[in-house]
Amino acid sequence: MQYQGVLKKMATENLESVQYYLDMGADFLNVNQLLNKTVSLSFVGYECLSCGEPKEIFRQGFCKSCFFESAKAGDWIMRPELSKAHLGIEDRDLAYEKQAQLQPHIVYLANSSNVKVGVTRKSQVPTRWIDQGAHEAIELVEVPNRYLAGITEVALKAEVADKTNWRKMLKNDIEDADLTEWREKLKHLIPEEAQEYYREEAKEMHINFPVHQYPEKPKSLNLVKEGSYRGKLVGVKGQYWIFEDQTVFNVRSNEGLVVAISV
Ligand SMILES: [Zn+2]
Repeated sequence: MQYQGVLKKMATENLESVQYYLDMGADFLNVNQLLNKTVSLSFVGYECLSCGEPKEIFRQGFCKSCFFESAKAGDWIMRPELSKAHLGIEDRDLAYEKQAQLQPHIVYLANSSNVKVGVTRKSQVPTRWIDQGAHEAIELVEVPNRYLAGITEVALKAEVADKTNWRKMLKNDIEDADLTEWREKLKHLIPEEAQEYYREEAKEMHINFPVHQYPEKPKSLNLVKEGSYRGKLVGVKGQYWIFEDQTVFNVRSNEGLVVAISV
């Protein structure tokens, strides 16, 4: 079977084992069904996720001009503490920013390679955790806007990481942490404005990824540079495809690439 389309991060469903879906335009692939099959990938071109033009992708699936101009790529996305819609202040497009920022957000602890703090829209739980390859996660506060989530995350960074190590995550070089205990330990760092939103009752969630074989030395595929690749798919974790020869392909960081896939 041959498929062609612009890469967007895989959609997921948190069942006993995570189910992954890839939108390939005319087709919708259940990636779990490709496990243990030989898959060929080839680079066809670019299609910016914002303007749809065949321009080289700069970051986050956007061409350079969209990355610097589109409301969907404002600095508050990567740095939630810079959010200003709650003050009625525009960054790039106030209507869009109000809709995106003035909705419930969760500050969470997740463990993919180490315990880290992060922020997500409430509607993205547990999607965000699956995308990071976290095998466990817990909610810390649920606040009414992105700004409050951002300042809570910044405060927690004093005592907990905010980055993960993708190699450790893919090697499954992981430890179970008691996230309820971590949450208790970090509670005192929550800024006063966010304290009333503490999620005492939230329970630790566990996530199982469909991986048959973990790589010992994962090596990242640069599809633009290589042009094409062929290998046996042995797992999917986070937004990564894992192949038998230890090659890994990060679907998310290749958003905006037009690819051909054959199985
Ligand atoms: Zn663009």
